[in-house]
Amino acid sequence: MYLLYTFSCVVSQYEAQEPLSASHSWQTLWALLFISHRGALMVPCDRFPHYVQVLKHICALEYTASYTDSSDDETSPRDKQQKNSKGNGDFCIKNIKQADFGRREIEIAEQEMPALMALRKRAQGEKPLAGAKVVGCTHITAQTAVLMETLSALGAQCRWAACNIYSTQNEVAAALAEGGFSVFAWKGESEDDFWWCIDRCVNVEGWQPNMILDDGGDLTHWIYKKYPNMFKKIKGIVEESVTGVHRLYQLSKAGKLCVPAMNVNDSVTKQKFDNLYCCRESILDGLKRTTDVMFGGKQVVVCGYGEVGKGCCAALKAMGSIVYVTEIDPICALQACMDGFRLVKLNEVIRQVDIVITCTGNKNVVVREYLDRMKNGCIVCNMGHSNTEIDVASLRTPELTWERVRSQVDHVIWPDGKRIVLLAEGRLLNLSCSTVPTFVLSITATTQALALIELYNAPEGRYKQDVYLLPKKMDEYVASLHLPTFDAHLTELSDEQAKYLGLNKNGPFKPNYYRYENTSKTTSAPA
Ligand code: NAD
Repeated sequence: MYLLYTFSCVVSQYEAQEPLSASHSWQTLWALLFISHRGALMVPCDRFPHYVQVLKHICALEYTASYTDSSDDETSPRDKQQKNSKGNGDFCIKNIKQADFGRREIEIAEQEMPALMALRKRAQGEKPLAGAKVVGCTHITAQTAVLMETLSALGAQCRWAACNIYSTQNEVAAALAEGGFSVFAWKGESEDDFWWCIDRCVNVEGWQPNMILDDGGDLTHWIYKKYPNMFKKIKGIVEESVTGVHRLYQLSKAGKLCVPAMNVNDSVTKQKFDNLYCCRESILDGLKRTTDVMFGGKQVVVCGYGEVGKGCCAALKAMGSIVYVTEIDPICALQACMDGFRLVKLNEVIRQVDIVITCTGNKNVVVREYLDRMKNGCIVCNMGHSNTEIDVASLRTPELTWERVRSQVDHVIWPDGKRIVLLAEGRLLNLSCSTVPTFVLSITATTQALALIELYNAPEGRYKQDVYLLPKKMDEYVASLHLPTFDAHLTELSDEQAKYLGLNKNGPFKPNYYRYENTSKTTSAPA
């Protein structure tokens, strides 16, 4: 029993993305040997992938148990002198000895990033990024490593820092450093470390970047502030995040943007995958990991029937839930009706539903009045805008008791004993409590790679000092590179059909304003 309990604790810790150490391994392996020996390895199906992942993780820890694990090593990477097996020390990471483990993580990610792997193959011989010196600041994860190694295979030199102080996978950073990349990042950097790492990427003798790949705008901001002359050699900026893009538009508006920039965040394929498909998968994942809830027959209300709401509703309906929708826009409301959902006002169903999910991008959609009327055990979560949709602050009052029951799960208890289950304190459920599918990141990473190639190779004058969306044809190319995964066979236009539609046979196939979305979001004539 003890061993079983230990294993289940390790699984929970793994799922909560808390670090596992080699010390977990012997108990867990014993537990597994014991259970499998007795022929009783019975695990709930939905948790099985995690069990397998934990096993893989633990096996990796076993293999790497000979090195001093980083988790107990308090020395700042800045105070360590490390070299890779070729004697190169131009990097700063937690522990180079984790490289083998990181390599395995990268290999797993490669399986779900078919387009980048295809780009590598297609570029054999041809190097569209030959001479490119890319400085990057993104999350340093296995998926980013696949992107960096692709850029390198296409001819680029890369120096990289992390855009977030917590998100670096140390073992992946180690694998990259071992592979010769100049990476400056580790999990748990201080604010000072964060800027130091960015500076180490750009402030280096004998190397000057000519392309920027940024996520959040911090790297771009740093170069603007500290090394503005560098922009003389920079051919372009590729930016992924909403915040970073916003900053670029501000610079452009103020006439201060001195190179062309590509807004990858708003490219059609990325948006579609991030909002609709990613949420369709991760809503179930997030709810399961936090609550182990059974979906069949549960009554769920989804607030907002945009891209995110549509994804959530589709997933829950498929699981046998009874789904209600709230909307303010009659067009999206009609879509919900046509898709077979009951359109209601929140107050009409709030007493009876088992789960409430917000996806509106709005504020105060679920206010205290509704929280008061929910039934005992109602699960409340947000898939929409940061943490504004549920009025969580209104629950911080003396008569209500908060009980943390699991990582990211709070019971909020009323004086009569009624409790609601609040997930991730109203922040985005999927980003807080589940993982983003690698295939979704593959779309973004491929878009980033193509944006770099486009800006780097563009003839003088094609792009001015402004912010651009990726050309439609390239969006189509990103999608086409992902099609072989599904053994999908695309129909080709005949000459006659192309002429009839007024299209080039090779695309683009849609006008720029076509957003592949519900009609409420396409550009329309002013009222
Ligand atoms: P969207 O504009 O397509 O959909 C939002 C819908 O909510 C609209 O149809 C709107 O009419 C409706 N709405 C607004 N206020 C409402 C209210 N008070 N009650 C009911 N309906 C209301 O936007 P989207 O692409 O679906 O994104 C929604 C939010 O999710 C945004 O904040 C976006 O940033 C966020 N988002 C989250 C993820 C994630 O991974 N969780 C991914 C992408 C986007």
